[in-house]
Amino acid sequence: MFDIIIRGGTIIDGSGKPMFKSDIGIKDDEISKMEDLSNEQAEYEIDAQGKYVTPGFIDTNNHSDTKWRIFSDPNLKSLVYQGITTIIGGNCGSSLAPLDNSEMIKSIRKWLDITKININWVSIKDFLEEVKKVNLPVNFGTLIGHSTVRRGIVGDSLKDLEDIELEEMKKIIAKAFKEGAVGLSTGLVYSHAKLASQRELQELAKLVSRKKRIFTAHIRDESSNILESIDEVIKIAQKTGARLQISHLKIMGEKNWSFMDDVLNKIENAKEKGVDIGFDVYPYTATGSVLYTFLPDWVSRGGRKLMIGRLKDSRIRKKIIKEMKKDNIDYGNIIVSVYSFDNTVIRRTIKDVAKSQEKGIEDAVIDLLIASNGQITTITKVLSEENLNKVIKHPLSIISSNGAGYGISHKSSGDLVHPRDFGSFPKVLYDFVKRKNLLEWEDAINKMTGKPAKRFNIKKRGIIQKGYFADVVVIDPETIKDNATIDKPYQYSTGIDYVIVNGKIVVENGEYTETRNGEIISN
Ligand SMILES: [Zn+2]
Repeated sequence: MFDIIIRGGTIIDGSGKPMFKSDIGIKDDEISKMEDLSNEQAEYEIDAQGKYVTPGFIDTNNHSDTKWRIFSDPNLKSLVYQGITTIIGGNCGSSLAPLDNSEMIKSIRKWLDITKININWVSIKDFLEEVKKVNLPVNFGTLIGHSTVRRGIVGDSLKDLEDIELEEMKKIIAKAFKEGAVGLSTGLVYSHAKLASQRELQELAKLVSRKKRIFTAHIRDESSNILESIDEVIKIAQKTGARLQISHLKIMGEKNWSFMDDVLNKIENAKEKGVDIGFDVYPYTATGSVLYTFLPDWVSRGGRKLMIGRLKDSRIRKKIIKEMKKDNIDYGNIIVSVYSFDNTVIRRTIKDVAKSQEKGIEDAVIDLLIASNGQITTITKVLSEENLNKVIKHPLSIISSNGAGYGISHKSSGDLVHPRDFGSFPKVLYDFVKRKNLLEWEDAINKMTGKPAKRFNIKKRGIIQKGYFADVVVIDPETIKDNATIDKPYQYSTGIDYVIVNGKIVVENGEYTETRNGEIISN
């Protein structure tokens, strides 16, 4: 007797191998049989004739933690309706633990007003216990954020680490690994981490390598200096043997788009030379970025306080504006998405804001940054469709959202969320598999399941296989579709008929059951 039998479906098992027909029997939290089960019975039966049965999707670049969503609305419906069953947080250099001192949480201020949150943990261990208590509908694991730890050590001071501080940092990270963190993330584009030296990063990557974790990198520059930025992280991996994952690979700014072939060549060459390298990608040509990261690199060096000081200094301001004008960034078309200081600015382009305030585009950007103390997020169409196709197709890519989980009700907050929060995984299936024919179903599912599980060392998930956890999705290949757009992001994806997490039904006939059965993923 099984708890659940999924009958007559076509299995795409997540490994990349060709689809095949089989029944699946689930008992407790496990896939217990994969064969013809026509003579068997179960408490609950799913007719999957004409449907694809796949592992649950694994989103290794998720921000539901650092945007506080796992606590403010743990249903994470926009993720569940995409078929996501596992998320990894702590991305882009910032994690919610460890928090040994009050400085450390500040590294998420770029996304969140931290005066409104409540924290009752210090270590990774305590944090993961808290997450377990809130009962998420998806499995959750976390990286440890380099900026989070760095802030805890140096605070706001602008300096290279002393040996003793570097040792302290390594101690904190080693403890976090011991307590279950799946890797170390870096956000080298962000103001604080910009000061991190090669020596510091290599020392930490050595530790990552020794502890067999993954080193992820939101690289220093995703526009005109992307080649140097890619070289930097490859060098770290080469020198240390750390497994390297480049986060949300993309190139911003039309004049820089042509660098993509060189970027991919560099990655392929490194791979040939033995570097264990890969990257993730979200399937949109619009980024969802913190506004200040578009400014010339030096402006935000050393932290927010210094940045705001520079923006306010009339002489420096002139210099910044001059450089912005020469930049390849089309500041006018940046759309304001989150700006808690003035709701009327949200959904408008900078061009429009500048016009109504009767000032230049660069002045409008700078004044918004000053008024919000740097806390302003944007949605910007700065990526190339052609590059996106190349990156999604590339054998070393996996799919991620780089987003967070929301319910449709979040619309009333006034925030403009990015469509990736609601549609990333179905968009790949609808747009890149069905409509553009760029990927086979098996490859696309592999990039969402088996491959991310392998890269992040997530055990017994990501493949439909006997003895593996029963994280299973039943997809209707006719109706699968992302529905969220930039103008109307608050729309769930459709065509995900069933989602099963650790043997429990989380989506039934396309409806969320409110069963929250996620487990903690730790290494
Ligand atoms: Zn990032």
